[in-house]
Amino acid sequence: MKNTTKLFLALTALISFAFVKPKFIEPKQINVVIDASHGGYDSGAKVGGFTEKQIVEQITHKIYALNKNKNVVIHLTRSSDTFVSLVERTNTINALKPDLVLSLHVNSNSNKNKSGMEMYVANENKSSEMSLAFAGKLYDKFINNNLKVNEIKNAKFYILKKSEVPAVLVELGYLSNESDSKYLTDEKEQNRLAETIIDFISELK
Ligand SMILES: [Zn+2]
Repeated sequence: MKNTTKLFLALTALISFAFVKPKFIEPKQINVVIDASHGGYDSGAKVGGFTEKQIVEQITHKIYALNKNKNVVIHLTRSSDTFVSLVERTNTINALKPDLVLSLHVNSNSNKNKSGMEMYVANENKSSEMSLAFAGKLYDKFINNNLKVNEIKNAKFYILKKSEVPAVLVELGYLSNESDSKYLTDEKEQNRLAETIIDFISELK
């Protein structure tokens, strides 16, 4: 190879390196709807002075406030103590087309020994496989944070069937059980629940 050719090649290489910009892939924005169930005249489960609608609203507000990830946008189906019908909720969801819907509930049972969380997905959901995969990931997060989850079940709940995006319904525990009631109503424990959910959401892709 001639010296001039060598020089030419070296210069070409140098110039092309100078113009190669480092590749920066913009992280995908994740949209999640947190559905605080019940509200207004519909209190949901009621034990002692505590109501399901109030607990899920408190935890929903904590999830919203704890989200510091600028790539994650949290949307709510209700942000105050008002009644929002299931049709209105799914209309909001299907207009937003989020990556995931998390519907939050609290259980109650005449058997006071029943405790722990339950998670639901619907086979009728258009993204039922994705819903199940997300439920599995959230299940692992709860378990790793020493929260008891009984199982992931299939159920034909309206919000799960009618949402045209992946949707998971979580019964966060039994208000009728003494130890569950403690973590459901305690401010610190509510924060721990909210942090676990935010941790899970932040890892969604
Ligand atoms: Zn409920």
